[in-house]
Amino acid sequence: MRVSVLGVGIDALTMAEAVERVAGFVKSGGPHRVITLNPEFLYRARFDGRLLALVRRADLVTADGVGIVWACRMAGRPVPERVTGIDLMLSLVERAAAEGWRVYLLGAAPGVAEEAAKRLILHYPGLTVAGVHHGYFREDEEAAVAGLVRKARADLLFVALGAPKQEIWMDRYLEETGAAAAVGVGGSFDVIAGRVKRAPAWMRRLHLEWLYRLLSEPSRWRRQVACRSLRGRLLKNTG
Ligand code: UDP
Repeated sequence: MRVSVLGVGIDALTMAEAVERVAGFVKSGGPHRVITLNPEFLYRARFDGRLLALVRRADLVTADGVGIVWACRMAGRPVPERVTGIDLMLSLVERAAAEGWRVYLLGAAPGVAEEAAKRLILHYPGLTVAGVHHGYFREDEEAAVAGLVRKARADLLFVALGAPKQEIWMDRYLEETGAAAAVGVGGSFDVIAGRVKRAPAWMRRLHLEWLYRLLSEPSRWRRQVACRSLRGRLLKNTG
């Protein structure tokens, strides 16, 4: 079931169901785009027709961020749980190791995707990493990067360029990569590579990950102001 919030469809799925959907994409062949939607993206899509169209075209849109879960509840159609980029990535990597899917890690600063791949292989023996590439390429190199992914014969591509850059890249180039599915995962490679810490479990349980990130990366306050403003807009629309 898709829940519509501010004109954007969000798939009301548990993590296990989201993994099944992606497994279906890999089996049927590509290209399928997966967006883990956070409030900032939703807010920007309200004012940017290109972003709105791109989310509407996506094959799977999960509720990343407590703000989106909350917005669905306000709209009277709750989603079963949060499906964040990093959690979805880790669940899919586990599945990839079991199924023999070839995964590709695209994004983050030079060296980070390599380190993340190393740690994933250690943690999920049998995982095939078809290739990695950093995310700091120029616009005139974008097509060449898609060509590298194609050469690596990846089934499943994780794109960590930050939102909405990763979604725009996936929309434009996924088909050229030949991968069956791509998932936008934001800063997940930094977390997996140990460059950025995740909030402690107790904070995640209390839905305070946003506070942890704000304290550890003060530059995020602008984005979080956008989220608050989205919350105000939703209250106006539903209240
Ligand atoms: N990034 C990248 N290329 C760019 C800009 C950003 O590869 O041109 C990477 C950056 O190094 C980081 C990730 O994209 O690993 C963005 O993480 P962030 O947590 O800011 O993303 P969000 O979760 O907000 O989408």
